[in-house]
Amino acid sequence: MARYTDAVCRLCRREGTKLFLKGDRCFSPKCGIERRAYPPGQHGQGRARFSDYGVQLREKQKVKRMYGLLEKQFESTMKKASRMKGRSGENLLILLERRFDNVVFRMGFATSRAEARQLVRHGHFLVDGRKAATPSMLLKPGSKISVREKSRKVARIAGALETLEGRSLPKWVEIDKDKFEGEVKALPTREDITLPIQEQLIVELYSR
Ligand code: SF4
Repeated sequence: MARYTDAVCRLCRREGTKLFLKGDRCFSPKCGIERRAYPPGQHGQGRARFSDYGVQLREKQKVKRMYGLLEKQFESTMKKASRMKGRSGENLLILLERRFDNVVFRMGFATSRAEARQLVRHGHFLVDGRKAATPSMLLKPGSKISVREKSRKVARIAGALETLEGRSLPKWVEIDKDKFEGEVKALPTREDITLPIQEQLIVELYSR
């Protein structure tokens, strides 16, 4: 499957905000946006002015990059969100939060969504006791994720769990660190998603 492989700190600098794509490094002085707080490229330090369309586009790009999706995947998630009952913008964020890779990250088995995605792809987890390796799979309340017996010594999983105390878990998931398992207790609500996102701008962009 296609994926973005270029330098990810450029993406944060382009969006002008931390997207937390590199795990612990994002909280250190080595963070790209701490060191160079202007957009990448030759004209990065010039003045940027955005039209309404530009503002909407940037918001969409920001969320797409935060969750590590490519354009088509993001568009199809948006379409699915608009077919659901309720507000399309909120539905979009809830669908993104319910992705398997995001839940692995939220539970603290990985320090970033990109790392979670790779660990999922490598088959280190079970969902409800069955092997699952599709990062885009949507989890529902009651879904249980566990680390496979032979994967419990994987350095990245063990390392992420060691630093779990320093991170706050959202209230819609629960984790038993000693048993290497976690459960989705409820669907996330808009209030649970504390990321600085203006989802209405994305809805407006797709309604053009
Ligand atoms: Fe973004 Fe993290 Fe890189 Fe900082 S270290 S620029 S938050 S990806």
